[in-house]
Amino acid sequence: MTSPLHPRAILRPDRDKPVRQRHPWVFSGALARIDDAAEDGGLVDLFSAGGEFLARGYLNRRSQIMIRLLTWDAAEAIDDAFWRGRIARACAGRVIPPDGAGRLVYSESDGLPGLILDRYGDWLVVQALTLGIETRKQQLARVARELTGARGVFERSDVDVREKEGLAPATGLLAGEEPPAELTFVESAFDDRPLRQIVDLRRGHKTGAYLDQAINRRRVGRWCAALGPGAQCLNAFAYTGAFALHLLAAGAAGVLNIDSSAEALATARRNLELNGFAPNDDDFHCANVFEALRGLRDRARRFDLIVLDPPRLAQSAAHVDRAARAYKDLSMLALKLLRPGGLLATFSCSGQISAELFQKIVFSAALDAGRDAQIVERFTQAPDHPVLLSFPEASYLKGLLLRAG
Ligand code: SAH
Repeated sequence: MTSPLHPRAILRPDRDKPVRQRHPWVFSGALARIDDAAEDGGLVDLFSAGGEFLARGYLNRRSQIMIRLLTWDAAEAIDDAFWRGRIARACAGRVIPPDGAGRLVYSESDGLPGLILDRYGDWLVVQALTLGIETRKQQLARVARELTGARGVFERSDVDVREKEGLAPATGLLAGEEPPAELTFVESAFDDRPLRQIVDLRRGHKTGAYLDQAINRRRVGRWCAALGPGAQCLNAFAYTGAFALHLLAAGAAGVLNIDSSAEALATARRNLELNGFAPNDDDFHCANVFEALRGLRDRARRFDLIVLDPPRLAQSAAHVDRAARAYKDLSMLALKLLRPGGLLATFSCSGQISAELFQKIVFSAALDAGRDAQIVERFTQAPDHPVLLSFPEASYLKGLLLRAG
């Protein structure tokens, strides 16, 4: 038996397969015993029931996922050099222009369970999702700042999942300078035209913006350009208008932005103006999308291109059926609003709803709408949100581009 570097955790018999397949989570039910000396947030060495060293990770007895594994190599120490090396490797795998934004570290997918690190120009935003990262966040923020040359690192750990780790929300400066109240970053259009976006790192959604959709916004822009100039577009769940920027840059005649947040729409308007577009009051509709789409239908409004990018409607497995009905409703209503030959980009960011299920939902929406539709492109999350083969749970965003008959 390898002598452990850390207190030991022992698996129950026959519970070692996922660990051997390098799945990074060990659930409480798989564990037979944990040494009393092991501290929550601290490191443990994981052994099979037969006494074989399997992996090393950090512990939290308060979480259902009691251990998150960091290495399967008994000789690999989890020291400063380990964390620095993992962050450096993750950063090296990204291609983000200096004035751009993107994800540098995507948690399990980058061998750093519980750590999200996004860059917006000169600034970094961290999310610490687990106790193991919480206890090390200052150190990790300093390392990230050194490696990237960022001016400051701001924490946005105001996320519900922390409750499952026994952690309260946390936000604030972790390293370097305080970021300004608002900054801008560039997200290039399909033809590389630079589009500037305003972001509030303290109060924006997620770490400030929906970086996972960046590549899909470019693609949808390209399809809009292919429709020819003058397309009438609808951007439902518009947030700060990122899709609208791409549609207008692609030659759309107008984009109707719908969102339930007046504040998000006010930023959307400023984003459009910042990029030289001249929106009207009518281009922004503060409303519930489900009701607004029915209103547009009743007024016989028609569009050439519609984007449907709702928030996560299935928060857990228990919500899948209800969410499926909501996704279907949205796509059905949108399909009815399309002109013949029009395009619908419809998305789901619910990890609980697979790409296959989503396609079935959209199919039943098309049947109910009485429209034939072709899938002309499939969307997934941006490449800076990679999916480790041993951790398919990291895949959550899916979308279809449909051409209506
Ligand atoms: N498409 C955006 C991201 C959308 S996020 C982008 O690319 O940046 C989802 C948005 O939906 C949020 O702005 C939220 O305010 C809004 N929202 C959530 N539920 C809504 C509802 N029922 N009706 C209208 N907007 C809603």
